[in-house]
Order: sequence, then C-alpha cells, then structure tokens
Amino acid sequence: MNAHDSEKVVGTLLARGYREVPTPEEADLVLYNTCSIRDKAEQKVFTRLQNFKREAGKGKVFAVLGCVAQQEGERIFERAPHVSLVAGSASYTRLPEMLVQLEEGNRRVTGLSLDTDETFDTPFTRRDNPHRAYITIIEGCDKSCAYCVVPFTRGPERSRTGESVLAEARRLAESGYTEIQLLGQNVNSYRDPSPAAWDFATLLARTAEVPGIRRVRYTTSHPRDFIKAIVDAMDSNPVLCNHVHLPVQSGSNRVLGAMQRLYTREQYLERIAWIKNARRKMALTTDIIVGFPGETEADFEETLTLLDEVQYDSLFSFKYSPRPNTAALAMEDKIPDAEKARRLMVLNEKQRAIQIRRNAEFIGSLEEVLVEGHNPATGQWIGRTSQNRTLNFTHPPNGGASLVGRYLNVRVTRSGPNSLAGESAANVM
Ligand code: SAM
Ligand code: SF4
Repeated sequence: MNAHDSEKVVGTLLARGYREVPTPEEADLVLYNTCSIRDKAEQKVFTRLQNFKREAGKGKVFAVLGCVAQQEGERIFERAPHVSLVAGSASYTRLPEMLVQLEEGNRRVTGLSLDTDETFDTPFTRRDNPHRAYITIIEGCDKSCAYCVVPFTRGPERSRTGESVLAEARRLAESGYTEIQLLGQNVNSYRDPSPAAWDFATLLARTAEVPGIRRVRYTTSHPRDFIKAIVDAMDSNPVLCNHVHLPVQSGSNRVLGAMQRLYTREQYLERIAWIKNARRKMALTTDIIVGFPGETEADFEETLTLLDEVQYDSLFSFKYSPRPNTAALAMEDKIPDAEKARRLMVLNEKQRAIQIRRNAEFIGSLEEVLVEGHNPATGQWIGRTSQNRTLNFTHPPNGGASLVGRYLNVRVTRSGPNSLAGESAANVM
C-alpha cells in the first residue's frame, strides 16, 4: 500500500508540473513516504532525515508523508526542523493545495486530519510497473488489534464504489496492463458504498471479467471477514490468481484473544479447509508475530504446530514491536528481545524446511508465468506464477528481444526454499 501511495503522490506532483530526478541530491523537494508498523521502520526515517540534512540538505524542501507523519504529527518539526510538510495518507486528497502553500514559501504545512470520507482516488497515478497495477479499493481499518498502529495512522475504513474500481480496471486494461492487484488493509472487509452494495467476492468476480485483464490478485485479507464466497469466486474464474494471503499472527487461542484478532485457531483452520478443498490448488501465505506480551513457550509451540498443520507456501514473520497508541503497550510480561529473536529463528527454520519440501513438488510441472524481468548475471528471465512463486527460467536466444510483460509456459526443473527454476517451453503467447 505504501508503494502504491508513493505512485499516487508522484503522479499528483508530475501533474502539477514537477519533474522527477534520479537522485535526492538533484532534487529541490524531497518527500519521504514512511511506515510506522514497527519501530525499526520508524527509526530509519529519522536517521535518513538527519544524514541527508548534514550531507546535502541545504536549500531543499523536505516533506514527511505516511504513517510516521500521521503518528508523530508536529513533533516531526521538533525532531527534524528542516522538514516543511507533514501529511498522513488520509490527507493526500489535500496534497495539491498543501503544495501550493509550500510553493508560496510557507515553512510549516500539515495534513493530519483523519476525518475524511474520501479515499485518495487520483487520476494522476504514475505507476512503477508497466504490467501490474495496484488499485486501492478500501482505505483504513475498523479492527483494533492490540499491537497495531494502522487504525490510528490510516483512520477508519472507507470503501470505493464498485463502479469506480471497474472503471479504473478497464482504463488500465486499455493502456496495456494485464495484472491487477486490489489493495486494502483488510481488502475483504470491502463493501460497495453505492446502492449496488457489492461485497468483496462480487467485486473480485466482476474485476476478473474485465476484458484484457489476465490476472487479479488481492491483499491483505482478515480471517474474520474471509467468507466462503471468496473461495467460490476464485474457483470459478482462473483469472483470479490461486493464492490467498491470510495473516494468522499466532497459533494460540490465548494469544489470539489477547491480540483481539476476533477469531480462534479453529475458525482460522476452517477457512484454510475451504481454501484447501477448492478445485484449483491454492497457495497459502501468512503473517506471524512472535513474542507478543505474555506469549509462553507453550503458546509459541502452538504456532509451530499450526505451521505443520497448514503447510504454508511462504510467510512473513515479525518480532513483536511495541507501538504508540496501542493496547498492547500497557500489557505485562514483555518478552526479552533475545527470546523474540530465538523464536523468530526457530519459526523461520521450520518454515524453510516446509518450503523446500513444497517447492520440490513442482519439479516437472508446467507453469504459466508473467515475465517480470531479466537477470543479466545469470542470463535467466524472472517470472511469477499465478500462485505468486518466483520462477527463474532460461529461454532460447530470441535476438535480444525483451520478454518482460509476456505470458510464457515454463517447465520447472529445479527448486529451492524461496524460488523455482526452469526452462521455457518457448511458445511465447
Ligand atoms: N490487516 C492485516 C491483518 O489484519 O492481517 C495486516 C496489516 S499489517 C500492516 C501487516 C503485518 O504487520 C501484520 O499482519 C502483522 O503481522 C505485522 N505487524 C503489525 N503490527 C506489528 C507490531 N506492532 N509488531 C510486529 N509486527 C506487526
Ligand atoms: Fe492492524 Fe489488525 Fe487492522 Fe490488520 S486488522 S490493519 S493488524 S488493526
């Protein structure tokens, strides 16, 4: 979502006559889009701001955008006095007028209101990838997980109308995009605010019918709102990529309760069973937090057994990071950092073994990939399967023409913990 926010900000600036330069040193205006989901990401912003100021900051205008801006607000001006603009993502609709204030020489401009019905829906998005486009369908979050800053930094949930999402998908298809990724903190909590009142499963099915669109992905789903109709929609249209990212956070009901995740291990596993029983083989990925306050060794063991049970294709794992304005901040029984690090290592080792095994099952199969790049060092092309696996492959010499953006069938010949390798079946489609 942050990457896509940056695309929208760049598009808005270009439309106002700004020009993008290759390095921050050449820029007159430097914008940092920030993440505050964990403390490390937040600290990085301040380190970068300080370094830049010393080295080459003279005469430049600095802006801090995103979740650190929303969270720290005007305190950023105290910590980094050379910053002139501080704006959270819920205020980006006002970005053009904030830029005018900056151009007029205003030294301190803020956009920190969360009180907006509008999503940052701009015609000026400048997309980084020429084949895959992001579409935000829902902003903010109405849940209140005990560890998470998102409801505070991105505000309450606001969905876009289904028609506006489809219109954007059609425009993208007409300009050559073939893959669309629908975005939201809880993308499946989507509810069309127009009288049509589509739910997420309906929107998915309609987006997959847009002519020219060959792949539709979505992220991130909250297990509580993950209904069977989503799996049914995926099952009936192969344009909907066969991958579900379903963050579980913990395998222990005690910890899930303390996290206020609104589901139990058993309810989560029920959803996993729907996905596993689909006719198409779906890839499953998740997010896990280790070391949440009060997480015992037995709780952690339950997360490990969940990994055995589900057999995820990949996962993102995090050490719990205390965040401001969250309920977990006041919780007792903090886990020492060294213990969090140990649990993270144990978790990742277990998952690595699972991935080695699961990826090996693909050897010999034929997979369709969207070609995303070329690695000159190895001579291999980089493709992505519908299941979102990276598949590096060789292709017969073709006079130096780029394959990027094409769909190819690739025979898998080798596998590792994080990717597959193979040879193209040479029939470029
Ligand atoms: N809305 C999604 C959900 O409910 O699953 C998750 C969105 S969050 C931006 C992405 C991931 O960051 C979460 O799934 C969680 O694993 C991780 N995360 C969030 N807050 C965290 C914290 N305080 N410490 C460590 N990891 C955190
Ligand atoms: Fe954060 Fe929970 Fe909302 Fe996800 S559902 S963004 S983890 S508060």
